[in-house]
Amino acid sequence: MKDLTLARKWRPISFQDISGQEHVIESLSYCLHEEKLHHTYLFSGSHGVGKTTIARIFSKGMSCKSGITDHPCNRCDNCTEIQNGSFIDLIEVDAASKSKIEHIKEILDNSEYLPAKGKFKIFLIDEVHMLSRYSFNALLKKLEEPPEHIKFLLATTNPEKLPSTIISRCLHFQLNILSEEKICDRLERIFLCENVQNDLSSRKLIARLSGGSLRDALNISEQVISVGKGKISKDLIIDIIGIPDEDCSFQIMKSIAQNDFKKMMSIVEEFSKRSGNWDKLLSSLLNFIHEIIIAKFLQNDRAHHKEIHKNIWIMLNLIKSTEDLYFYYHTILSGRKNISFSPTRRIGVEVTLCKAITKFNFSDVSNKSKSST
Ligand SMILES: [Zn+2]
Repeated sequence: MKDLTLARKWRPISFQDISGQEHVIESLSYCLHEEKLHHTYLFSGSHGVGKTTIARIFSKGMSCKSGITDHPCNRCDNCTEIQNGSFIDLIEVDAASKSKIEHIKEILDNSEYLPAKGKFKIFLIDEVHMLSRYSFNALLKKLEEPPEHIKFLLATTNPEKLPSTIISRCLHFQLNILSEEKICDRLERIFLCENVQNDLSSRKLIARLSGGSLRDALNISEQVISVGKGKISKDLIIDIIGIPDEDCSFQIMKSIAQNDFKKMMSIVEEFSKRSGNWDKLLSSLLNFIHEIIIAKFLQNDRAHHKEIHKNIWIMLNLIKSTEDLYFYYHTILSGRKNISFSPTRRIGVEVTLCKAITKFNFSDVSNKSKSST
C-alpha cells in the first residue's frame, strides 16, 4: 500500500466517496437502482475531476455479483477485479494511444462475444475525442445497433471534438471542476489520515494550484510531502513548485502602476533566481489583477471592506481607472498566450511587462499606421 501514489490510494471506490459531482451521481444511481440502463454513457469534464473513476464505479454497479446496484459491494471478485484493473469484462481503451481504425476494429470485434463473468461487456474509452474519423465511423455503427450485452462508457476532456452523431446516441454527463473549498476539505481529511502536518493556507494554495482537479492537488501534495519529509507549508509549496508568492505579483503591479521600470525589472531578476516558472508568474499576475478588478466594484460597499486585502487597497489607490485594469489584464493575458513564440519565456514575460508599463497598445499603432498610409 505504501508504494501507491496518493492520487491512486485515495481514488474513490464508491459513489458516496465522490465529491462535487452530485448531479451525475444521482442520475447514475437512479439508472442502477431502477435497472434502467442506457447503452452508451459519455462523461466529459477537465482532467482529474473523476471521469474514469466514476465510470469504474458505475461498471462495478453493473457487474457486482450482488446484482445491478447503486451500492456495489466492493468485496466480490467482480468488484475487486474492476478495482485493480483486471476484470475481463471491463475493457479499458486509451484512445490517445489507440486512435487508429485497426485498434478500434480489434476492440469492437471483441464485443461480439458474450461477457465471461459479468452481466455486460463494458468498453471504457478514455479521451474518446482522439479517435480518427474512420474509428468514429466504426464506433458509430456499433452505437447504432448495440447488442444487449454491451455497454459503452466514453470519457473526454473535449466533448466539442466529438461528432454530433456520436453525442446524440449517448447519455451525456458533464462533470464540474471541483471548487477550491471542496478540494481543501478533501485534502484536510487525507492529510489527517496520512499524518501530514499542514495548515489551512497551504491547503488553500494547493487547491488554487490544482485548477479544480483533485488528482493534481494530490500530486502536488505528494511532491511537497516527499521534500518536506511529511510536512507541508505554504513557503515549501512556493519553493518547490516555483510559483511567485502573492508579494511578487503585488510588487510587480505596484511598480507598473508607479511607472518604475527599474524596480519592475529588479523584481523579475529576483524571481529568475528563485524560479523559472514564467507561465506561473503571468498566471499569478492575472489572478492578482482579477482581485483588484473585483475589489473595484466592491469598494463602495462598506460590508465588503473586510474582504479586501491591504495590498489590494494600495493598488486601488494607485490605479484609479477600471479601463487601465482591463488593459493590464488583456496585455498579460495575450503575453501568456504568446509566450511559447518568444525566443525565451523570460523575454516573453519582460516584453509583456514593458508593454504594460508603457501602456503601449499595438493595435492603436497599427491602426494609426494604416490610416496614415
Ligand atoms: Zn460486488
